[in-house]
Amino acid sequence: MGRLKSASLHPRTHSSWTAFRWLISRYARRYLWVVLLVAGLTLVANLLMVIQPAILAALLANLAGPATEGIPSDASWLNLNFLGARVTAWLSSGKTPDTNQLLVLFGVLFVVQATLVAATNYMADYGAVWLRAQFAKLIQSDLLEHLLAQDIAFFTREKTGELISRATRDATNTAMALGPLIRSLIHHTVQIVVYSAYLFSTSLWLTLGSMVLLLMQFGFTQALKRPTRRLVRHETDTAADLLTALQESFTGIRVTKSFGAEAFELSRLKATINRVSAAVLRKSRVEKLEVPGRSVLDSLAVLGIFLIAILQMQAGQLTFQGLLLFTYVGKLLIAPINHMATNALWIETMGAAFGRISELLSIQPRVADGRVAKQAFEREIRFNDVSFAYGDRPALRNVTVEIRKGEFIALVGPSGAGKSTFTDLILRLYDPSEGEIIMDDVDLRMFRLAEYRSHFGVVSQETLLFNDTVRDNIRYGRGHLTEKDIHTAARIANAHDFIMSLPQQYDTVVGDRGIRLSGGERQRVAIARAVAHNPQILILDEATSALDSESERLVQQAIDQVVVHTTAIVIAHRLSTVMHADRIIVLNHGRIEAIGSNDLLLKTSPTYYKLHRLQFEQPTDLEVAEQPLA
Ligand code: ADP
Repeated sequence: MGRLKSASLHPRTHSSWTAFRWLISRYARRYLWVVLLVAGLTLVANLLMVIQPAILAALLANLAGPATEGIPSDASWLNLNFLGARVTAWLSSGKTPDTNQLLVLFGVLFVVQATLVAATNYMADYGAVWLRAQFAKLIQSDLLEHLLAQDIAFFTREKTGELISRATRDATNTAMALGPLIRSLIHHTVQIVVYSAYLFSTSLWLTLGSMVLLLMQFGFTQALKRPTRRLVRHETDTAADLLTALQESFTGIRVTKSFGAEAFELSRLKATINRVSAAVLRKSRVEKLEVPGRSVLDSLAVLGIFLIAILQMQAGQLTFQGLLLFTYVGKLLIAPINHMATNALWIETMGAAFGRISELLSIQPRVADGRVAKQAFEREIRFNDVSFAYGDRPALRNVTVEIRKGEFIALVGPSGAGKSTFTDLILRLYDPSEGEIIMDDVDLRMFRLAEYRSHFGVVSQETLLFNDTVRDNIRYGRGHLTEKDIHTAARIANAHDFIMSLPQQYDTVVGDRGIRLSGGERQRVAIARAVAHNPQILILDEATSALDSESERLVQQAIDQVVVHTTAIVIAHRLSTVMHADRIIVLNHGRIEAIGSNDLLLKTSPTYYKLHRLQFEQPTDLEVAEQPLA
């Protein structure tokens, strides 16, 4: 036998930028008109916002009496030294202005402008949040659809906490880019452009001072970028580890309690919590440096600007009114510049989130959907020289066998022999590494998965119930099942009577993973769930060993009833189950050792003989002699 193919997958990685562009083209189109509306509203709000210095300038110019005199002909419109006078002259259109009237007019304009800005900003802001919510929904549902379509191997390999973190945090961070970020970029660009125009028109030197501020801010943010990205990634990873650890800890609470291992578990969790908190602190140490660092830079810049202003005033190039407005507008400019720098950090954080999401979306399940619709199981399922390995670990080797419609097949063999793998391959949870499995002459890989699997009823060894009512656990995902179907299934599974004795009968909620039911009751509900849609093939992993003898009898009776009218493949842990089987397949080390009836196998299969003797017969004298004396 050749070396078997690895069953594990390795996600391809993308650069953040590729992923960003890809996500924009994938999602932004759907709400393009809202994106445009938000962008338009943001533009209007900001254009309204940036006329405020002109109104203030006019108010200021008229405080000391009419002010339309002495505007140099070469001064630009936006020059703050003369802006007030220009606005006044423009509004009084050549006549001698009445100062009091103008003051009232500018006062009213000031309030109207502020109200309009507030109203348009509110609409744009809400629009951006709405977009983020819509995109988060789209991304999350796409991501979940993609995740649920992955094969079992994927879930065995990936950490649950990591997947949860990607589906929640990364998805919302990604959605941020398509609403609030676009808005923020427009918002701050308009302000930076217009406020800078005011400043340039007023004084070149003062404005160059402001540009130095811009460069310092930019340099500072750049310097923080790389370490922040690394530390944020580290923090997200450790937070995901904690989610995984907590989930494992809560789901494994039975084991923990029965081993009295609470202290051990706690110390493990504490170690993870410590790592998370250390990662948060390490990240915050760098991340929180940004705001205070920039405020120190701001102060330096303001001081520098004043120094230049004094020189300009002494040279007669700046009026006092001009300086006042310059500092005002200069101060207005600082906020959007700061935000631009923060936007750059946002883009980084989101780039990482995009990257992680698109990495997930690019993983394709190995168990791919086929095209052929399988209406019904007609004749047989055939394994043709099938081998399978988990990674490098062989689990089935050169298995060839045929299971005919209507047969009751029992699978026996020691633990690890490959019994679960055998049934998992029939269900196409995995595809064979070598060989093929055929149903009615068609390779399983050709069938549409959902349709194919709908022909099966499965009871796995670990009977997982959902925290829902008994009824919905039996119905699980098959909305067409009637109340009658559910009761019939429960009767067949020997579960109806105990369900009727529950406080709310079929409406009783079973608790997390069915914790409020006994092991035997859980199994019978799981059997009812498996048979409720009248499957053509039943796969049962009969795990009765953990049950008391009364529960075992009820479960056994249920199994005996359900296997009668269908094709059944039962993984049998106790040989009493298999006595009625049409054929018994003995697996050992991934190979079929023998196939036949109980009587035949006792003669031909050493493994079966051993299992049989262990369960039914007294140990031989030799084995007794081998037991150590008490
Ligand atoms: P059985 O059901 O007979 O106890 P399985 O089919 O579960 O045996 O396992 C067959 C072999 O494959 C065992 O050696 C087991 O350790 C290994 N195996 C089962 N599941 C996995 C998995 N998800 N990843 C790696 N190895 C696995």
